[in-house]
Amino acid sequence: MGMTMTQKIFARHCGRQEVQAGDLVYGALDLVMGSDVTAPIAIHEMEKYGLKRVFDPNKIVLVMDHFAPNKDIRSAQNCALARQFAQQMGISHFYDGGRMGIEHALLPEQGFVAPGELIIGADSHTCTYGALGAFSTGVGSTDMAAGMYAGKNWFKVPAAILVNLTGRFSEYVGGKDLILSLIGMIGVDGARYKSIEFTGEAIAGIPMDDRFTICNMAIEAGAKNAIFPVDQNTLDYLSGRVSRPFVPVEADTDASYVCTIDINLSQLRPVLAAPFLPSNVKPVEHFRGLRVDQVVIGCCTNGRISDLRMAARILKGRKISEHVRCVIIPATQEIYLQAIAEGLLELFIQAGATVSMPTCGPCNGGHVGVLSDHERCVSTTNRNFVGRMGARDSEIYLASPAVAAACAVAGTVVSPEEV
Ligand code: SF4
Repeated sequence: MGMTMTQKIFARHCGRQEVQAGDLVYGALDLVMGSDVTAPIAIHEMEKYGLKRVFDPNKIVLVMDHFAPNKDIRSAQNCALARQFAQQMGISHFYDGGRMGIEHALLPEQGFVAPGELIIGADSHTCTYGALGAFSTGVGSTDMAAGMYAGKNWFKVPAAILVNLTGRFSEYVGGKDLILSLIGMIGVDGARYKSIEFTGEAIAGIPMDDRFTICNMAIEAGAKNAIFPVDQNTLDYLSGRVSRPFVPVEADTDASYVCTIDINLSQLRPVLAAPFLPSNVKPVEHFRGLRVDQVVIGCCTNGRISDLRMAARILKGRKISEHVRCVIIPATQEIYLQAIAEGLLELFIQAGATVSMPTCGPCNGGHVGVLSDHERCVSTTNRNFVGRMGARDSEIYLASPAVAAACAVAGTVVSPEEV
């Protein structure tokens, strides 16, 4: 029986010729990732069970990004614990202030992800790395602890949904509009514990940054993972980043899928996801004229250089509305430097934006732009749950960088073509 891309990766990592959806497998891990929020819990779990070593210090990455640079004493203590653990265990891939970035932008950028690999991270948006043809998924801190110790984790092999992509993105339409539209179609549980596997003629025209955005939000449809086939775009991205050998996987022609969803990129429009679910998706026009208090452009979903370039395209020569606070957050130090080199940060500041250091910041209501009562934010982040960015009755509308930048200029919800 044929296998999907994800099933092939599992078969390879548990030493079997074949696996099927529903099989329980004990898979060897290529990488384990944790953050300043989740790693301390995993460290305490290891201490609780007397586990005094890790399986391979070179296959563990710890990223201080959620509340770093530390916003309070508690976050400083968490980072200090993770720092001490990294030193004790010989974990050199420890990303602290000055080296850090948001984990899901940082790991691919720094060459920690290669096609065909099996990766877990104690963060739900670890599914981002499927853009590079890897299996990656979010786990809890207890699984992270077990993974750090044993180098293996238990998995139930997921069934798959095939998403067939045709056509081309129109101007101001991109990966964020695609994944929001898909979540709008199938709902926040539409892919529950399934793999979303992309195929189709359109993939060659989808830039890597868009593929990261798309895979990043697969969890918002309940998916176990999302994965793109490896093509020349993927290999170009990996060139100069990954030097170890890797073997991409391809789905078998007779692989089995729960269903196939066809999406023509040419028919997609700029969209917004209204509070309080990422599936509340409608065209921008539906919300046209809603007053906006804050705009956030950044996060592991849309803080990459092409996102900043798109925001700059809209903001160039314009001013952000006087009643809008616009926070722009390059996702990593490398992206930050690239944005400086291209003059983007100067452009943002001249437009009236606040430019932050790389951090998760306001995405989870941490810092650098927490919302007050009744405030409304248009954000390129990935979740618009109740209280996600601050006060319980604040509102988040999820959008692409193009839409977010346009709203920052107008001070109300508008489509990018209108500014
Ligand atoms: Fe999580 Fe937001 Fe940080 Fe991404 S940017 S890892 S969604 S808190």
